[in-house]
Amino acid sequence: MDPRQDKKTDVKKLIDKVRALHEGDRYLIETHGCQMNEHDSEKISFLLESMGFLPAPSEEEADLIVINTCSVRHSAEDKVYGHVGRLKHVKKTKPDLKLALCGCMMQRKASRDYVLDKFPQVDIIFGTNNIYRLPQLILSSDENDSLAMDIEDNYSDLDNQLQANRSHPFKSYVNIMYGCNNFCTYCIVPYTRGREVSRSMEDIVSEVKDLALEGTKEITLLGQNVNSYGKDLDDKSSFPELLRQINAISGLERIYFMTSHPKDISDELIACYKDLDKLAPYLHLPVQSGSNRILKKMNRHYSREDYFEIIEKIRQLDLKIALSTDIIVGFPGETEEDFKETLDLIEKVGYDNVFTFLYSIREGTQAAGMEDQVPQEVKKDRFQRLLDLVYREQRKKYESLVGSHLEVLVEGVSKNNPEKLTGRTRDFKLIHFEGPKDLIGQSIRVVVKDTSTFALEGEYIEASRS
Ligand code: SF4
Repeated sequence: MDPRQDKKTDVKKLIDKVRALHEGDRYLIETHGCQMNEHDSEKISFLLESMGFLPAPSEEEADLIVINTCSVRHSAEDKVYGHVGRLKHVKKTKPDLKLALCGCMMQRKASRDYVLDKFPQVDIIFGTNNIYRLPQLILSSDENDSLAMDIEDNYSDLDNQLQANRSHPFKSYVNIMYGCNNFCTYCIVPYTRGREVSRSMEDIVSEVKDLALEGTKEITLLGQNVNSYGKDLDDKSSFPELLRQINAISGLERIYFMTSHPKDISDELIACYKDLDKLAPYLHLPVQSGSNRILKKMNRHYSREDYFEIIEKIRQLDLKIALSTDIIVGFPGETEEDFKETLDLIEKVGYDNVFTFLYSIREGTQAAGMEDQVPQEVKKDRFQRLLDLVYREQRKKYESLVGSHLEVLVEGVSKNNPEKLTGRTRDFKLIHFEGPKDLIGQSIRVVVKDTSTFALEGEYIEASRS
């Protein structure tokens, strides 16, 4: 009997046991952090519902609260500590409420020990590599009425096989690999998500085929560094080959992927934008800094010249590929000169979106031990100047689209205005417009009428739906 199958059967038996005890109880999942965490929460939700739990509309009505944590910055962790602290009082009035913590913070010993020390109200703890253990942990917590905890250092294939309650029926996240081997000096991810492990191409392609049959039109391939997909596999699968195979799946309309590392961007991957009709004209390519001195200290393995070369190759495709990036301000040792080089790079590349971050010390990373940490007020001043530039550039880009007709995948009702719908253009821009709700999940054409810094405003062009 296939050991994977054995384990799967064991999990199934545990699920039945939990359902017998918790059928009809209500759960709430609160997700912090990246798309990988969002997708993990989709899996946790599916697992809980297979155990008979029902979604709770609010914390007050929940019998089980799961907080899926992020540890990428101090502020993300502080948010979780604050939240768990507040729930102590809720549990006083609702002693049967179960509180579970999972995700990157729990995978990190320092944060886990802090929770064990400060927050006795937590009932269940698991990590990023063992969502499948949740049924067992719920049972242990019930039986022993004490903390049930399990952390696995290495990624487990069993989590891979877990189904997911996808937030949208027409678009899906698909993990292609886990972990990261790059050890950028500011980053905690290699310590919380482990070493790079690629899923087999066969597994990924069959998952995407199933999703396309179920009506998924848009796929986002997820990994900390998707460009090194397959390097750990015997058959030396490659990321461009994976994209080609997914592009051949009928029913799909859009393929996105994140996140890429500039040191692993190949000419073969760049050529995919020309050859693959479903590969959306969008690339998120984190540069982090425009200064070679800082890039070296960050252990990023490319220079600003290398980065410009990649951008030039993409521009030469002449496919209007939208570019976004991540920038860290205030990395240890960053001088005014270094910062000016970052501003200069942003102007030269002309991004569609820039995600900006203040450097945050992460204990356990190399950069945390570096001297010449930048004073907070200097960081904040630079951050504001960076935002001024980014918003100015972004607005110029968005304004240049007024009057153009764009293809939009309608995602739902606008969060800020229930009278409007919201969707994404093929190059990943957010757009709001009026239209009937049955457009949700459809690809339509919209003419751009106006813009803000972060989104386009448009008008739905009738008879353009597919
Ligand atoms: S590539 Fe660098 S920044 Fe990205 S997850 Fe890996 S270590 Fe972190």
